[in-house]
Amino acid sequence: MRLSQYFLPVLKETPKEAEIVSHQLMLRAGMIKQQAAGSYSWLPLGFKVLNKVQRIIEEEQNRSGAVQLLMPTIQSADLWRESGRYDAYGKEMLRIKDRHERDMLYGPTNEEMITDIFRTYVRSYKDLPLNLYHIQWKFRDEVRPRFGTMRSREFLMKDAYSFDLDKESATAAYYRMFVAYLRTFARMGLTAVPMQADSGPIGGDLSHEFIILADTGESAVFCNKDLLEKPIPPLDTDFRGDLEPIFRDWTSLYAATEEMVDEDRFTSEVPEDKRVSARGIEVGHIFYFGTKYSKPMKATVTGADGKEIEVHMGSYGIGPTRLVPAIIEAFHDDAGIIWPVSVAPFEAVLINLKAGDEATDAACAEIYAALAAAGIDALYDDRDMGAGGKFATADLIGIPYQLIIGPRGLKSGEAEIKHRGTGERETLPIADAVERIR
Ligand code: ATP
Ligand code: MG
Ligand code: MG
Ligand code: MG
Repeated sequence: MRLSQYFLPVLKETPKEAEIVSHQLMLRAGMIKQQAAGSYSWLPLGFKVLNKVQRIIEEEQNRSGAVQLLMPTIQSADLWRESGRYDAYGKEMLRIKDRHERDMLYGPTNEEMITDIFRTYVRSYKDLPLNLYHIQWKFRDEVRPRFGTMRSREFLMKDAYSFDLDKESATAAYYRMFVAYLRTFARMGLTAVPMQADSGPIGGDLSHEFIILADTGESAVFCNKDLLEKPIPPLDTDFRGDLEPIFRDWTSLYAATEEMVDEDRFTSEVPEDKRVSARGIEVGHIFYFGTKYSKPMKATVTGADGKEIEVHMGSYGIGPTRLVPAIIEAFHDDAGIIWPVSVAPFEAVLINLKAGDEATDAACAEIYAALAAAGIDALYDDRDMGAGGKFATADLIGIPYQLIIGPRGLKSGEAEIKHRGTGERETLPIADAVERIR
């Protein structure tokens, strides 16, 4: 992409309304624009990152055996009356009336709708286990939308729903999501710690929030430091096998959010030098809730003995539009964002130090073509302006590699590469530069 043809409305000043660094940087880097309280447009650069985050989530959901579909944002209130949640949900739900005065709502979550899909088509125990997910916009009329897309009113959620014959099988489904989540966040460069969370009226220990430690996090969290260094289950993890050992291993170390923390357990189970008491951002939440929806909504299958069985369900959420700022909270410096390669909007930025100079333009065009041929998604800063501004933009938008080409280097056939993360610079023959980035 040539920057002269792109849409990258970067801001020089830090907008006053942004309280935390990720919100400031998303506005300054031209990633998002606020449209109303808690509602944002995703501008091209932000949208590219958001898409990369979604692709990673999809790959790991699919790998774990979940199946993707897409449900609408606007739902009928009738389904929610069946589960009893239409009245119970409260003010966070945006209620709408259509022209026939029918009660509709903008979905804050999809348990009812997915249960309706399930009961329409699935009849036999032989069709289980089943896990269906989608990535769709949600609306929650948050009391205090803030921090940009970290807590917005309209936000994207990946929500998966598992259906099983009994608690044991539902627990195995829970373990699959638990492991998929560990892998998902790690692939984005994040250290997300699964922490025991409030499992509501069902009780039990099958509810975990995945938390990223950050000073700007909205909840207080308590955990064993060793959880921050634990190796992530590898790519070849067998999702058809028994994942309980992985789950037991991770949950054997103490970790809980403020709603759940037991101070006595925290101090007795965690040695003093391992106690982490910090702030955290909830980026994912997994939950087993048994027959909470299948019972009132009559989602049953016929068992092997011919008897009707209410299915055991779980739901599993991740917030892609929250993850983007969460990644920035973890990876930035005074000059701007430092994207992990896996979610970077472009892999490299080609900086032409003397746009308008025939030889430099020609060399850059050739390198830009070579980058494309090598499958590297590069941004080409071909703008007619000073080097200082180009470096500032490149640092601000956080592209992992800056490939710098100017008349002086060209004379000796050399390019410079700056690694955004480490600040390290290297000079190398132009011919090797593309290979170095790949
Ligand atoms: P929070 O405690 O932050 O209000 P939640 O517990 O209400 O979140 P869940 O119902 O567990 O959220 O939804 C699953 C995921 O959706 C969350 O873990 C989070 O990543 C994301 N999410 C929830 N609310 C928002 C929001 N207002 N803005 C952006 N992402 C959100
Ligand atoms: Mg909430
Ligand atoms: Mg929460
Ligand atoms: Mg939650």
